[in-house]
Amino acid sequence: MATGSTIGEDADQPMVRIRGLRKSYGEHVVLQDIDMDIARGEVVVVAGPSGSGKSTLCRCINRLEVADAGDITVAGRPVPLEGRELARLRAEVGMVFQQFNLFAHKTVLQNVSLAPVKVLGRPAEQARERAMELLDRVGVAAHAAKFPAQLSGGQQQRVAIARALAMDPKVMLFDEPTSALDPEMVNEVLEVMKALAADGMTMVAVTHEMGFARSAADRVVFMDAGRIVEEAAPEEFFSAPRSRRAQEFLSKVL
Ligand code: ADP
Ligand code: MG
Repeated sequence: MATGSTIGEDADQPMVRIRGLRKSYGEHVVLQDIDMDIARGEVVVVAGPSGSGKSTLCRCINRLEVADAGDITVAGRPVPLEGRELARLRAEVGMVFQQFNLFAHKTVLQNVSLAPVKVLGRPAEQARERAMELLDRVGVAAHAAKFPAQLSGGQQQRVAIARALAMDPKVMLFDEPTSALDPEMVNEVLEVMKALAADGMTMVAVTHEMGFARSAADRVVFMDAGRIVEEAAPEEFFSAPRSRRAQEFLSKVL
């Protein structure tokens, strides 16, 4: 379903390729020696204790943070530093946060249709039609004319997913998308994510929702203290984690 520009893209490259990524805040090294390939259509769940660097990793992938060292390519192209190229990259890498970050003073429909017009230059009518399709797909089309505060948390997060999808991203990053939700709303968001995964979207999801990982992920990457400690297929990771850190972590979250 991802379209967008393919100029300069190398189809043989992984969708996301990270080499030697390092990031620190002052003296505090929060990511180091991160190497990671995410194949086209692959769904990677990133797990790990609080403070292990999961959010920073996501933020480096879409350039909300500048890494100290290392290379990141998206669809075979280096992640640009600034300007138009950066805006284009941001369009290609959709991000959904724990806090939904919707525009409070815009309607649901405007939340989803504005950026395609402003950033991608799409005609307004076309952007609205596409936004309505996406809102329908995530099950909130009936609320298109409302403001975010009139929706439940689960509905708002589904709007946030539709908003990211409206840019036709090549990869979607989810940073603990269900952590701020009341328990009864978690599943409606996970179901949307599962449907996207089944549809072939390349995804990186930071989540401790093991049911999601088991049913949708191709791979689990476990981080601790800024490093990738272990990677495995979900069944393997959950039933027989190799590292002591992962064993300890799983004994707390499962
Ligand atoms: P996680 O998402 O796994 O909980 P984060 O990536 O948010 O971890 O944070 C990793 C570490 O980096 C933590 O120790 C956190 O306190 C620190 N950190 C994150 N953002 C900043 C920042 N803007 N300034 C200073 N330290 C930060
Ligand atoms: Mg985090």
